[in-house]
Amino acid sequence: MYFGIKKTLFSEYLVYINNIINILGRCARCHRLAVKESKNMVDFEVIIIGAGAAGIMAANFLQSRDVSVCVLEARDRIGGRIHDIHTKQMGHLHLGASWLHHKGNKHILKALLDQYHVAYLKEDALESSDKMEIYSEHGKLSGKEKKLFTEVLIRLPKNIRKIGQQQPTLSIAEAVRLIGEKHGYSQSLIQALITRSSEHCSQNADVMPAREFDGWEPNGLFVKDGYGKLIRKLSRHLNIEQNTIVQRIDQTDEIIVIETNQKPFTCRYVISTLPTGVLQSEQVTFVPPLPTNKKVALEQLDSGNHEKIFLKFPHVFWDKDTEIFQLAAPNNRGACTQWHNVLLNTEAQNILYTNISGPDIAYARKSDLALQDLCMSRLRQMFGDQIPDPISIYVTRWSLDQFTLGGPYAHPTMKGKMGDLSTIGEPFGHIHFAGVDTSESETETVEAALLSGIRTANQILSKR
Ligand SMILES: Cc1cc2nc3c(=O)[nH]c(=O)nc-3n(C[C@H](O)[C@H](O)[C@H](O)COP(=O)(O)OP(=O)(O)OC[C@H]3O[C@@H](n4cnc5c(N)ncnc54)[C@H](O)[C@@H]3O)c2cc1C
Repeated sequence: MYFGIKKTLFSEYLVYINNIINILGRCARCHRLAVKESKNMVDFEVIIIGAGAAGIMAANFLQSRDVSVCVLEARDRIGGRIHDIHTKQMGHLHLGASWLHHKGNKHILKALLDQYHVAYLKEDALESSDKMEIYSEHGKLSGKEKKLFTEVLIRLPKNIRKIGQQQPTLSIAEAVRLIGEKHGYSQSLIQALITRSSEHCSQNADVMPAREFDGWEPNGLFVKDGYGKLIRKLSRHLNIEQNTIVQRIDQTDEIIVIETNQKPFTCRYVISTLPTGVLQSEQVTFVPPLPTNKKVALEQLDSGNHEKIFLKFPHVFWDKDTEIFQLAAPNNRGACTQWHNVLLNTEAQNILYTNISGPDIAYARKSDLALQDLCMSRLRQMFGDQIPDPISIYVTRWSLDQFTLGGPYAHPTMKGKMGDLSTIGEPFGHIHFAGVDTSESETETVEAALLSGIRTANQILSKR
């Protein structure tokens, strides 16, 4: 009996142990399954960092092809370097991009503006010397010189590059000077061309290599409604997390983990549209770190510097039909030397705007008041001492903004080359790089940024 009881207890014990083993086995299987499943489970297939033109275009493209996408944006707004605001004092202002410039070989932007009913105007001040006035220390340039300026400007990029390739250490300013002296241009005209080159490059023409000069075509179209309208339309129905600052992108595992100031996100592919200045600042950590060739390329680029300054006056003292007033300044060429007549393009009243596009970032650190003084001294050189003081001023600070840290686009330094942009655009594992500075063939513009979004979206589609 005792044995019988014991035997029963023993067999029950065995069953009990067996059950536990089974349960543990099931748990282990469940655990393995859970891990396996979670390996397949990601928050989104693609996460795009940055809701500027590149990021919004990439997201729009992927979502329309049924890919699950989310855009993480650090700021409390979308658009990045496209930022249109409405101020009580000055009305509608484009703080970032305003024009459609024709560059590169692929063109999609005009068709997009038409498709989304974004109004634009023909803006041709740099094509036609009638629409601009150029002032030097000695007064206005003659009509003949202005005409020459326009003609030379169109050929200038090609000529700057050509002479730069022959003499690789030549800066843009030196190249312009050599070209000017060879053709017997006046010093005022040479200064005007160098000033324009600085303004165009968003940097100092004295420290940029002529061999890599990317050039411009005349201004093209002024996007009257603002690019913000296009971005808003392209971003409709997209999943965008604003106020989400990406801090770390870890692709050590199959699943990419993105750490932010909000919460972690997981995905299979990342499209980074972080601006060059942000990548250079290393405020976002890549795990594993970015490869050496990308780091070298980043070191060899200058992220640019182009701040807009808008001044509103009590009345118009300039010629209403002139679009651009340019001061050919021998020093500080990029600081408040090119003035645009906003009146012509928008309903804004009595506003002129200028920019700081070099020679160094220190200008952007000056107070609004100090900048106003600088602006007024420039304007008085052109229009005389009698002009009134402005009644309000608005200054952008892109170069100091943590989420831009630069200007409209990056440009090679004397050590760099345009190919550095393409190096930045190369995929790194499952991280793809879009943005205005990620291709040597499509550069500088909103259009380049949009195209980079499509390029990276296609790279991912072809990998899936
Ligand atoms: C003053 C100015 C004038 C310009 N004028 C023209 C013009 O007339 N015509 C033209 O074609 N182009 C112009 N440009 C250039 C054009 O605006 C830009 O090249 C283009 O908009 C860049 O788009 P992007 O998507 O590459 O970068 P961005 O627009 O800079 O987008 C990057 C996004 O990433 C976000 N971000 C940054 N860090 C983080 C982070 N850690 N986590 C999450 N998000 C982050 C940013 O907030 C931003 O929204 C101008 C630019 C400026 C600044």
